Amino acid sequence: MLSQFVPRSRKVRILATLGPSSDTHDRIKELAEAGADAFRLNMSHGTHEDHAQRIQIIRALEKELGRPTTILADLQGPKLRVGKFGRGKEELTKGQTFVFDRDETPGDASRVTLPHREIFEALEPGTRLLVDDGKLVFRVTSVHPERIETMVEVPGTISNNKGLNVPDVVLPLAALTDKDRKDLHFALDHHVDWIALSFVQRPEDVAEAKRLIGDRAALLAKIEKPAAIERLDGILELADAVMVARGDLGVEMPPHEVPPLQKRIVESARRLGRPVVVATQMLESMITSPSPTRAEVSDVATAVYDGADAIMLSAESASGQWPVEAVAMMNSIATSVESDPGYAARVHFTETLPDPTTADAIAGAARNMIETVSAAGIVCFTSSGSTARRVARERPAVPILVLTPSLKTARRSGLLWGAHAVHTKDVASFEEMVGKSKRMALRHSLAKGGERIILMAGVPFGTPGSTNILHVVRLVGDELERHRAKASA
Ligand code: PGA
Ligand code: MN
Repeated sequence: MLSQFVPRSRKVRILATLGPSSDTHDRIKELAEAGADAFRLNMSHGTHEDHAQRIQIIRALEKELGRPTTILADLQGPKLRVGKFGRGKEELTKGQTFVFDRDETPGDASRVTLPHREIFEALEPGTRLLVDDGKLVFRVTSVHPERIETMVEVPGTISNNKGLNVPDVVLPLAALTDKDRKDLHFALDHHVDWIALSFVQRPEDVAEAKRLIGDRAALLAKIEKPAAIERLDGILELADAVMVARGDLGVEMPPHEVPPLQKRIVESARRLGRPVVVATQMLESMITSPSPTRAEVSDVATAVYDGADAIMLSAESASGQWPVEAVAMMNSIATSVESDPGYAARVHFTETLPDPTTADAIAGAARNMIETVSAAGIVCFTSSGSTARRVARERPAVPILVLTPSLKTARRSGLLWGAHAVHTKDVASFEEMVGKSKRMALRHSLAKGGERIILMAGVPFGTPGSTNILHVVRLVGDELERHRAKASA
């Protein structure tokens, strides 16, 4: 059982990507201590051996720090790439014709291989092909079974294996490539907590991945395609969490359309009670500089004010020169925003009306009670984590201590706003529930003697999905002393 840490008061979670800049035990520990709650393994880079080593380090640290730690494996997904060029790269000019074909000979200034046969039939004249994060734009003029003819609309240098985006059509691509299936197998074998699915286009993509994953991990759908925006509600319904993947989203759509979409995705996810991660370029300049731009600081702050569950670092922590500083900076920004007296009002700008369920009635009532009696924290007993998600959805003013007999649930909670999970034995009676809540609240500094806490649980105890108790207790002044005496006895 992992149970000795003092929870952070920060509500928004920090998800840090690991890579060559954050590979060692000491470095990952520094990231955790600087504020990282969850770690992302980017399956687009590195070998299984690299990732296995990172997983092993995180699990060892979990014991050392006494804090359940979340691991998310991010599958590359059906990322399209052009083939190779005879000279490595070519300069293309505006208005010239350029052909993508199935001929495997190295490319030149007039053509290159596109090794994705599935997409040929989905393209039509007028479709845009974006290469190298949209730096080059090609307009399809005609499509044949073996070749796609285009005109260069935005010229530039095209080089080996550059990424290709096709924002205008839903591509007949499987949600998971062969590589993804192998990576998924690896990740599940190594007991990661979350799987992220890239380039989701339709709810069916999420359903297919969920069938493969079962209950072995939770699933996060990355929203980075216009097609996914169109089916957002259906995707949110099936996924356990979503990511506003602004990198690819800002290639597939004009970048100025991304901020309103970020607001919409965060809001929709929050209404449904799905954790939502805001990602990419949050502190981009910290890849090479120890301090961020003011605009980046403001961007991170905006995601926190929007009430996102988590904010993410990519290359900043994976391959940058200042990984620990980047996490510490995110932590400082989040802490500063969350202590702004105007923060609560901004977070509650998004109205999250309850579903007609007991769980939502209790969660909503808990939020009211906290304000009415100025409680210092919520203790929530849960096995599946669903009660914790419903109460986090209320964005209450105080931390949520999630007590769960399931290590899986404890670890998955690292992407959940305001939640601090403790893996601990279940309770069997009301008295035990009260006693344990008080002890845990003190041990994890959720509240002090004299303060009130709110308890949420379900009877019969140990029955998942039965949340139906809301209880207020006051920790008596000498409780801490008695607890200490008992602990040292
Ligand atoms: P990636 O996803 O870093 O795996 O591309 C995030 C994004 O596209 O923003
Ligand atoms: Mn992406």
